[in-house]
Amino acid sequence: MNDILPAQTPIWQRLEAVAAALFGSYGYSEIRFPIVEQTELFKRSIGEVTDIVEKEMYTFPDRNNESLTLRPEGTACCVRAAEQHGLLRNQVQRLWYQGPMFRYERPQKGRQRQFHQMGIECFGLAGPAIDAEILLLTQRLWRELGLGEAVGLELNSLGSAVDRQRYRQALLDYLQQHREQLDDDSQRRLLTNPLRILDSKNPAIQELLVAAPSLQDFLGAEARAHFDTLRQLLDAAGVTYRLNPRLVRGLDYYNHTVFEWTTDKLGAQGTVCAGGRYDSLVEQLGGAPTPAVGFALGIERLVLLYEAHGKVPDGLGELVDIYFVVAGDNLEGQALVVAEVLRDALPSVGLLVHSGGGSFKSQMKKADKSGASFALILGEDEASAGALTLKALRGQAFGQQTMASDELIQLLPTILAAASN
Ligand code: ATP
Ligand code: MG
Repeated sequence: MNDILPAQTPIWQRLEAVAAALFGSYGYSEIRFPIVEQTELFKRSIGEVTDIVEKEMYTFPDRNNESLTLRPEGTACCVRAAEQHGLLRNQVQRLWYQGPMFRYERPQKGRQRQFHQMGIECFGLAGPAIDAEILLLTQRLWRELGLGEAVGLELNSLGSAVDRQRYRQALLDYLQQHREQLDDDSQRRLLTNPLRILDSKNPAIQELLVAAPSLQDFLGAEARAHFDTLRQLLDAAGVTYRLNPRLVRGLDYYNHTVFEWTTDKLGAQGTVCAGGRYDSLVEQLGGAPTPAVGFALGIERLVLLYEAHGKVPDGLGELVDIYFVVAGDNLEGQALVVAEVLRDALPSVGLLVHSGGGSFKSQMKKADKSGASFALILGEDEASAGALTLKALRGQAFGQQTMASDELIQLLPTILAAASN
């Protein structure tokens, strides 16, 4: 579990702000649910025989001996919350969420035990048009972040529950013929949940699966129609993708459309965004049958990608425009008052008031280091003249000028605008 330090948070804030604004602009509203849920919720939704439920959950008894779990993902929580509050009854509901998730995995680049996701869930729409719109939304997000070239879309259909049941038998027959090549996990899953073997991270298993029967050949008419229409919609909208018949996702609740946005620029942990349709989950958790589709994106991986390939805007995180140097005995009180007057007049200007004394020279050094564009100086001379000195710190043509604070308030917006060009 990592700390996210001040040098990093500006990137986080930017990614989160861009995504939140985009979700809002497509009609999604934010929902916030607790970090802890009853363990049962995840067992019933994600599936008993999945990596997450079998070995990755932070589960503990509370003081009342009730089994609780730190949420490993958001979809189950979102469904629980939306259902509990009647948000899913006979209506379309577009929701988004963000926050920490917890999985007891081996920590490595792009894989933490506390990680962060942003996700959207759309309830009440069964047709492929919403699948397509969600993919368009994600594509727009990459474009806005300057990551359009760095990620690619992989797409598959898992068909209906009936299709998967038929396929399960065919896969089982194939894998049983190669039983001795299966690792322990896969041996076990052969009996419990053979489709999970498709999601194995073991290269030897993936090799074995190349010749296995393909789920694509078992899709029924309805699943085929849904998938074909989705592909036509994506083609018409200019979304390119790669069909990946072995894409199954690590959670049991998916059906029909599944997708991942991946990159080859982060090593082994290349999936930055993943999702799909889960039409039976709401019912499975006690609600009325409600079609649903959504995705989650992994913020840590997005941050890594953004640092490596995004167009990090100039001045990202430089929230301080002006460093206020207070050089003189007993001028601190006066400086605080002047600073508040400036803030009243110019609320969008970032102003850091030096505190704790020190020589003019040492304060100017701090001003330089702060990343501010200007130092505002209140020294003995300024104090006795009722004035302030503004000094450019980044070699701007402005140089240095002393003026009354009223005049400064008048001129600052123009001066700052000129400096940022
Ligand atoms: P993976 O195949 O990488 O284990 P997953 O199928 O377990 O991913 P999901 O549960 O679909 O992933 O989560 C969606 C996204 O959240 C992933 O694509 C990834 O970007 C991110 N994510 C998942 N687990 C972690 C983790 N332990 N650390 C950081 N990010 C994660
Ligand atoms: Mg995983």
